[in-house]
Amino acid sequence: MDHPTPTLRERIHKDLHSLRPAPNLLDYEARCASFRWEDARRLLDGLPQGGGLNMAHEAVDRHLLHGRGSKTAIRWIGKDGSRRDLDYAQLTAETARFANALRSLGVEAGERVFVLLGRVPELHVAVLGALKACCVVTPLFSAFGPEPIATRAGAADVRVVVTTPELYRRKLRGLRDRLPGLRHVILVGDAPCEGQGLQRWSELVEGASPVFAIPPTDPQSMALLHFTSGTTGRPKGAVHVHEAIVAHVVTGRDALDLHDDDVFWCTADPGWVTGTSYGILAPLVNGVTSVVVEAEFDAEAWYSVLERERVTVWYTAPTAIRMMMKLGAEVLHGHDLSALRFAASVGEPLNPEAVVWGLEAFGRPFHDNWWQTETGGIMIANFAALDVKPGSMGRPLPGIEAAIVRRTAAGGVEVVKTPMTDGELALKAPWPSMMRGYLHEEERYRKCFADGWYLTGDLAKRDEEGYYWFVGRGDDVIKSAGHLIGPFEVESALLEHPAVAEAGVIGKPDPVAGETVKAFVALKPGWDAGEALRRELLGHARTRLGAAVAPKEIDFRTGLPRTRSGKIMRRLLKARELGLPEGDLSTLEEDAA
Ligand code: ATP
Ligand code: MG
Repeated sequence: MDHPTPTLRERIHKDLHSLRPAPNLLDYEARCASFRWEDARRLLDGLPQGGGLNMAHEAVDRHLLHGRGSKTAIRWIGKDGSRRDLDYAQLTAETARFANALRSLGVEAGERVFVLLGRVPELHVAVLGALKACCVVTPLFSAFGPEPIATRAGAADVRVVVTTPELYRRKLRGLRDRLPGLRHVILVGDAPCEGQGLQRWSELVEGASPVFAIPPTDPQSMALLHFTSGTTGRPKGAVHVHEAIVAHVVTGRDALDLHDDDVFWCTADPGWVTGTSYGILAPLVNGVTSVVVEAEFDAEAWYSVLERERVTVWYTAPTAIRMMMKLGAEVLHGHDLSALRFAASVGEPLNPEAVVWGLEAFGRPFHDNWWQTETGGIMIANFAALDVKPGSMGRPLPGIEAAIVRRTAAGGVEVVKTPMTDGELALKAPWPSMMRGYLHEEERYRKCFADGWYLTGDLAKRDEEGYYWFVGRGDDVIKSAGHLIGPFEVESALLEHPAVAEAGVIGKPDPVAGETVKAFVALKPGWDAGEALRRELLGHARTRLGAAVAPKEIDFRTGLPRTRSGKIMRRLLKARELGLPEGDLSTLEEDAA
């Protein structure tokens, strides 16, 4: 990956400093040197009377004790334009009601609660209320079909599901025989519905007491079970504990630049780890106001939300950004986004083109950051106080030690010291939001660690200034004629062409080169997917990347297969290209299939 041109970096640098003359990370190096997780823990209260640490107490009830009860915690905007605000005091009471409701059903600490809802306030209440009751919570994509729900619910031995009558009828009812442990289904909404163990949210929760004493909670006890996106294969269930909230408070502040008076908007679906860690926990534990938008992506509607709600910090993902780019900046005209101070992106590599587009369209660059379901929180980020390097994931957060490593034959690792050299991205274990295991996959979990490092499975490089550059997932990297090629680099080069909206790149077996690079490209509206454009794109990539790295073949597609969390499924492009079995498709977005 070439470094961006100085002019671009200078522009971004200048822009950032004019926006925030006094960043909260004035001296990143000093902060890293003095950072200790034990100190961070003191940002939180712990349960009264030495009862340990409970995520929901820290995210919600604690604010009452600090006089923030009347501050808006959640500002919900429904699909039909309806709105509902919940302040911290109301959220405390609502979540207490849900915790009491669970107790009234005989649900005990440690039992598993699945939440199958869209972005509605009951989602927040159910997740946080179940955490208060010390249950283990899994939010699921409401768009999941019955099969992905069944496998996850079966693996987790689910006891309670919170959903709507519509979702129950369409997805859950037919699975009851396969889920003997599922005792209660709590239905949000009034639509008629029949079945065993059905409870109405309105009767059960609204009738419960608004006061709940959170039982003593071991910080190391299981709080969340999150399934990975399934981009590289069958999703894994990552186990997280209550202590992870320490990382949420720190990363929300450091990586997302959350301050007291911020209005924060995380666009992630609740079924993806981002939708919990940063859609629910991090903004609340930092005491800010969180905008929750029920509707799916629509550029015009999104700009209206940013404008009307005066969103100051916005956390979104490359797929959405690329869709906005596809529609063009004209859609933005007339919207006053002057309140927006900080925009961040996660989930996939953010192409440099997208960072620059953000600067041109919004007057702010997107700040890319990197993490995984397993890490529980942001690990590497372009901080507010640092220069954004377009195409880089940024630098490790205070408290996080990262390195580029190579696995050795003896089963250990050695750290790669030479800058800009490919290797596996590794993080020094542990930190509070680190997963504590893969559900029922002890061996697989153990294999993630060597010599005290957690091995991420992603390939990256580190530059002289300590910024990390994503190369590709270990599984997606292409080996062609002795070169190691990261799909991201090739996709980013293609995206620089004005016709390209999205690109996915794979390696195709080749008798001479080992593998050759093949690209799948979706075009922006108004471009003709013909031979002339194909030749032009091949030429563009060759000029940009050199013949050894550039794709030999380009196929046009109307869209690329994506996971529900918005990640391009390169393994599926490859399987289809080579006529191989398609593997686990439980997280494939249907309209992209
Ligand atoms: P699975 O592990 O089931 O294959 P997944 O890895 O996509 O799915 P997630 O935990 O949701 O599941 O995603 C984490 C991965 O997403 C990272 O390991 C990395 O490959 C990719 N990723 C996340 N953020 C970034 C980023 N800023 N730049 C590049 N890649 C990123
Ligand atoms: Mg993964």
